[in-house]
Amino acid sequence: MARPLEVLAVVGTRPEAVKTAPLVLRLRREGWARVRLLSTGQHRDLLAPALAAFGLRPDRDLRLMRPGRGLNALLAAVLEGVDAELARRAPDLVLVQGDTTTALGAALAAFQRRTPVAHLEAGLRSGDLAAPFPEELDRVAIDRVAALHLAPTEGARRALLGEGADPRGVFVTGNTVVDALDLMLARPAPALAPSLRGLPEGRPVAVVTLHRRESHGAVLRGLVRALRRAAARRPELVWVLPAHPNPAARAALRGLPRRSFRVVPPLDYPDFVRLLSRAAFAATDSGGVQEEAPSLRLRYLVLRRNTERPEGLGRWGRLAGVEPRAVEEALVRAAREPRPAAGPSPFGDARAAERAAAAIRHWAGRGPRPGDFSPGRAGRTPRSSRPG
Ligand code: UDP
Repeated sequence: MARPLEVLAVVGTRPEAVKTAPLVLRLRREGWARVRLLSTGQHRDLLAPALAAFGLRPDRDLRLMRPGRGLNALLAAVLEGVDAELARRAPDLVLVQGDTTTALGAALAAFQRRTPVAHLEAGLRSGDLAAPFPEELDRVAIDRVAALHLAPTEGARRALLGEGADPRGVFVTGNTVVDALDLMLARPAPALAPSLRGLPEGRPVAVVTLHRRESHGAVLRGLVRALRRAAARRPELVWVLPAHPNPAARAALRGLPRRSFRVVPPLDYPDFVRLLSRAAFAATDSGGVQEEAPSLRLRYLVLRRNTERPEGLGRWGRLAGVEPRAVEEALVRAAREPRPAAGPSPFGDARAAERAAAAIRHWAGRGPRPGDFSPGRAGRTPRSSRPG
């Protein structure tokens, strides 16, 4: 029997944990690969609980984030830390997810050591290197060095092929965030998080998350102004804002009136999923929330100028932009609209981890090429897409 394929999976932030976990669990269950989970500690406080929600812990934590450490210092530390790990372990494959400094650093470190890179969630493009910043460059650069592209959607595959990626290394898997959501929804709902216990029962809830670096400053202040005005026009709503630990993102949310707003600490993933499940709509600049919303039949507004996840726009989502008056109107309108009808999510069918594992196995010469994810195709209905 062939020896197990040694995979080093590198994660540093909450979305990486949520989206990598289903694949790590799948690979460990299948047994032909051995996965070592390395944390850079980019957002250590958010990463550990996000992994724990899936019963995972890092095999090693580099603890690289320090107060005040900028992106360049962090990138340098990731390069060095991951390089040392590569030198010690010599894995067959490095797995990175998404578009963070952790993912970029790990991919570059692997490239320099000629270790092949698999990129989970490959091929997302906004087309603007300034937004999301610095994530757009991160994902473009990671895809340039990756040998194996695990693209969530057909659109992502087209972007990769358009940039000259080798079609033999591009697989359309669906997004593993839908698998993650499905795993959460399979469990009994957790007890309500302490920070949510005071929520008035009868009032509809709007969930708002804002953390994009390019919005810090004037844009974020304008968005908060729009939220205040919309709240005054829709007094029945409670607006719940799980604040990102980033101090700049948090500072802008100070002083929102308690009658309408609840600014709460970041929620553990199961708690956040529970909150989204009961929300009337979401307004967000997060990538993951856009991808989760269709599975929860949740309407959402994207509070950004662009999105690299256009598949959800139309039926579920609307690009509201960042101009305060336009955002205010979009928020007021969203509050009036009914939930979208149940239907397959354009982002996944809860089988992305299975396809991604099969793609890695195929790449390693140990299995057939898996079929591609296609949202229209009949298959198992994940828990998350069933009518609620
Ligand atoms: N999330 C969470 N708790 C929160 C807010 C978000 O668990 O308080 C989850 C969310 O469901 C999604 C992920 O974190 O899966 C998104 O993370 P974030 O918005 O930080 O990053 P992005 O998706 O924009 O990369």
